[in-house]
Amino acid sequence: MRPLVRFLILALALLATPALAEKRIALSFDDIPRHEGGFMTPDERAIALIAALAEAGVEQAGFFVTTGNLDDPYGKGGEARIRAYAAAGHAIANHSHGHLWYHQTEIADYIADVYRAEDWLERLPGKRPWFRFPYLDEGRDIERRDAMRAALKTRGLSNGYVTIDDYDWHIDALATKALAEGREIDRDAWRDLYVETLVGTANFYEKMALETLARSPAHVLLLHETDIAALYIVDLVKALRADGWTIVTMDEAYADPIAAIEPDTLYLGGGRLAAIAAAAGKDPGSLVYERTDETELTRLFEERVIVQGGE
Ligand SMILES: [Zn+2]
Repeated sequence: MRPLVRFLILALALLATPALAEKRIALSFDDIPRHEGGFMTPDERAIALIAALAEAGVEQAGFFVTTGNLDDPYGKGGEARIRAYAAAGHAIANHSHGHLWYHQTEIADYIADVYRAEDWLERLPGKRPWFRFPYLDEGRDIERRDAMRAALKTRGLSNGYVTIDDYDWHIDALATKALAEGREIDRDAWRDLYVETLVGTANFYEKMALETLARSPAHVLLLHETDIAALYIVDLVKALRADGWTIVTMDEAYADPIAAIEPDTLYLGGGRLAAIAAAAGKDPGSLVYERTDETELTRLFEERVIVQGGE
């Protein structure tokens, strides 16, 4: 083949590649203002998280507020922290007032709780019309599910779904508990477990998307307002980029066509993609990543993060 022809073929291949290979992900944080962890105060954590997101070049993450948390001792100063997230360019949204399990709550009580949070939130800068179900619990029966689908529309809200379900909070909690028990942890190993688990989970759902939708949607990663996020979000973003991911805004993620889908299933607790896959007939047993599991994460934490043989 002539060099010029070979060059042109190569150039065309390179041009075509990014669109095919692009993996997009937005970051979202739940339970704002969240209880403290083992390493910093809630104020220190918010300051660190805002700085880390800026350093990582994350233009807009989502912060889902549980307004009832503002009444708890750790919620002191919470409104100022929420406003600081908004002032840093991040999106603010509804994660209910009382963080209720919907399947255990009367429909009218549940709707009132969500609207109560909305009444407080809608005056805030950065506010978006998104509601994220606590525990991703959409009711577990058709009556509850459809009642909330209607109630959200009535209030002009849309489902603030995730596509990537994980137990980031458990990796954080394991370290808090170990410290409280006086056990020594390897912080680099703790960071690596967090980063590796979340990148692995993202890729698990990306594969599910390609198999189910035959395309890559803009993903939404479920995170919580934890110390481990404030400490290591820069490392997480770096690892995601190294793995081929582009960080996008929450606004871009929720402009994806999957935002308009109401999956015809009751398998809704693992996020939007798993629901779409379940509605398409996939075995629910295949829709949960092995590390979205407290026992497995605890095992890995004990094996890799706890410093063995101290004392
Ligand atoms: Zn929550």
